[in-house]
Amino acid sequence: MTTTLTEDLPGIAGGAPAKTTPFPRETRYGAEELKQLAEALDQQTLFYAQGKKVYELEAAFAKHCGAKHGVSCTSGTAAIHIALIAAGISPGDEVITSPITDMGTIVPILFQGAVPIFADLDPRHYTLDPKSVEARITPKTKAIIAVHLTGFACDMVALRKLCDGRDIALIEDCAQAFDCRLNGKIVGTDGDYGCFSFNEFKHIACGDGGIVIANDDARARRLRLATDKCYDRTPEAAARNPTFLGANYRMTELQGAVALAQLGKLDSIIARRRDWCGKLNDALASIPGIHRPEVPKGCDPSWWFYMMRVEPEILGTDADGFAKALNADGIPVGAHYIKQCVYEYPIFANHSAFARGPHAYKGYAYAKGLCPVAEEILDTAVILSINQAYTDTDLAEAIHAIRRNAVWFRERK
Ligand SMILES: *Cc1c(COP(=O)(O)O)cnc(C)c1O
Repeated sequence: MTTTLTEDLPGIAGGAPAKTTPFPRETRYGAEELKQLAEALDQQTLFYAQGKKVYELEAAFAKHCGAKHGVSCTSGTAAIHIALIAAGISPGDEVITSPITDMGTIVPILFQGAVPIFADLDPRHYTLDPKSVEARITPKTKAIIAVHLTGFACDMVALRKLCDGRDIALIEDCAQAFDCRLNGKIVGTDGDYGCFSFNEFKHIACGDGGIVIANDDARARRLRLATDKCYDRTPEAAARNPTFLGANYRMTELQGAVALAQLGKLDSIIARRRDWCGKLNDALASIPGIHRPEVPKGCDPSWWFYMMRVEPEILGTDADGFAKALNADGIPVGAHYIKQCVYEYPIFANHSAFARGPHAYKGYAYAKGLCPVAEEILDTAVILSINQAYTDTDLAEAIHAIRRNAVWFRERK
């Protein structure tokens, strides 16, 4: 039996939970969305090419990000897909990306008949390690998808250098990184295409939706065609003459209306998350056994969720044990984020994307060990979901819980 030295007993040791009130839920939608929706319905069309809301959203979002064009679509997955289509990604091409991401990054690669190649991550900020990316470039590499995980920017300068002169498209997956800044600029325009998701859980939402920003006119044109069966809806177009394979990923006026209202709230949402998470991150600076995420150089993150890592040798417990203890203290964290790297999913282990027939990715082996750093990140990760309604009391209680549990575990070791 070890005796507990700390006076401040955490919930798991029988103390009163650190969290005295539940974390508040944000109110996502309200009068602004209703007003936009009423206007959309009053148009008597919900079709983007006849209405105003989708076009207005595209122009406003592009302007907000400092991009020339915005092309909307039905999801973040669709956004990645139209970027790959616009970049000409074709069967057999290799696309390098992150092994810790949503399947929405990966699904479109496979639909294009292309091969996902997984590069390892930086252990401090969970973004692509440019050295690992470079080591995986082959003559077949045709795109890199930089995932700005948790709202932290990838090293876009290094990734750009790898693409230039090699005919490799640089696509940014900004689904978790609305308004994340890198060297003063909002992410999404350092790459050729910046892809965003408006799904229910992102910084701003319209149920489901997505948008891609681009500066290049020809790219923007291809993006639009890729969302609309390769039908040219511009007034100048004489006829339907599809020249490449496009999908139907058209955003409706209803989604556009809600997203437009949400865009008006983005600045304040990001500001409150920055304040809350910035303070949390500062407070967790020197707790032995806890690695807080390290903000990349030149990055002002947008904090989609907060992912810290435990060091079991120092703490005397693993991510599961620490998450359980925080739960007992009223802090709703989870361990291991997506639990395993994307390449460990059955769709890769068994090459089961399609029921039968050839696919280039069947020629590649996917198994544990491919990206050791990414695997270690997931092994040790403890994540806290964030929303902008969290108060200073929530912050103080979360900090208290994390600190006293770390102390308690170390003393007990
Ligand atoms: C949410 C997400 C996606 C997919 O977005 P959907 O709108 O759900 O299709 C893609 N990539 C990342 C990193 C995401 O977090």
